Amino acid sequence: MRGGRHIAAVTGASFDLAAGQCLALVGESGCGKSVLASALLGLLPGNAQTAGTALLHGEAAADDAVDLLTASERTLARTVRGRRIGLVPQSPAAHLTPVRTVRGQLAETLRELNRTPRSALPAAVRAAADRAAFPAELLDRYPHELSGGLAQRAATALALVGGAPLLLADEPTTGLDRDLVDRTADELRRHADDGRALLMITHDLAAAQRIADRVAVMYAGRIVELTDAAGFFGTPGPRHPYARGLLAALPERDFRPIPGLPPELGDLPGGCAFAPRCPRATDRCASAPVLADGVACHHAEEPVRA
Ligand code: SF4
Repeated sequence: MRGGRHIAAVTGASFDLAAGQCLALVGESGCGKSVLASALLGLLPGNAQTAGTALLHGEAAADDAVDLLTASERTLARTVRGRRIGLVPQSPAAHLTPVRTVRGQLAETLRELNRTPRSALPAAVRAAADRAAFPAELLDRYPHELSGGLAQRAATALALVGGAPLLLADEPTTGLDRDLVDRTADELRRHADDGRALLMITHDLAAAQRIADRVAVMYAGRIVELTDAAGFFGTPGPRHPYARGLLAALPERDFRPIPGLPPELGDLPGGCAFAPRCPRATDRCASAPVLADGVACHHAEEPVRA
C-alpha cells in the first residue's frame, strides 16, 4: 500500500473442498472473502503478494494439480478461468461485456467452452438462460439495460456454461428476490450434486443454510470456524462467539446485532481480532488463537462428542 504499509487481507486460510460438495464462506463485508476468491483466480491487484499453496486437482492423478497461487497468467487464462473454475462475480454488471447482448455473450461462451454447433446455439442459449432464471425475452438486452438482479442472473448463466469442476460463486444471490434466491441457490447446488465442487462466498446465511455441506466463517481476514453446515445451523450450533453472533443477528432468530464494527484490516488489534466485540473475551485473548479442531477461539463452546 502507499507509504510501504502492508495489509494482511487474508491470513492462514486453510480448507479443502471435494467434488460434489458445497462449502459456504461467510462473514461480514470486508472480512477477506472476496480477496480469497480473487487469489484463487489469479485476479488480485498487481501490488498483492501471496504465499502458500492452493491446489486445484484434476479428476484423475495428483500430478494433474495446478497451484493457483503460482500458475502463470497464461495457464490461468487458457486452462483454468472459465474451464476448470467458473466464476459468478460479485459485481456482475462490471464483468459483463458492455457492447454485447446477453444472447451474444452466452452464445460465444457456449461455442468456446462447449463447442456447441451453430445450429444448436439458439436452443442452447435459451436453456443456459433458463438455468439461471434469466427471461428468454430479455436475451437481446445489453448489460446497461439490465437491473442488478438481471445482471446477476446473466452472470450466473454464463458461469454455469461449460460445467467447470469448481464453481466459485461470489455473493451469487445479491439483488435477487427471496424466491429467486432459493432458485439460484438450488441451481448452484445441482452443480455440486452433478459431481462438481462449489465454493459459495456469501453473507446470505439463509442461502448458505439451504445448500452448504460445510461452512467456513471469516473474520478480519482469518477463518475462525470451519465445520459441518447441519450442526452449524442446527444443533449444537456454532462454537465461535462471532459465528454465534452472526446467527443470532438474523431476523428469523434473535434479531440481536453484534455490537461494534469489524476492525480495519490495516489496524487490527493485537491478539484475537474479535476481542473488542466479544462477550467472552478474557486476558487470555490478548494472544491470537489458532484454528484447532475447527475453531479459533480460547473460549469456544465445547464440541459435542458423539
Ligand atoms: S479468543 Fe477470546 S476474544 Fe476471541 S472470540 Fe474467543 S473468547 Fe472471544
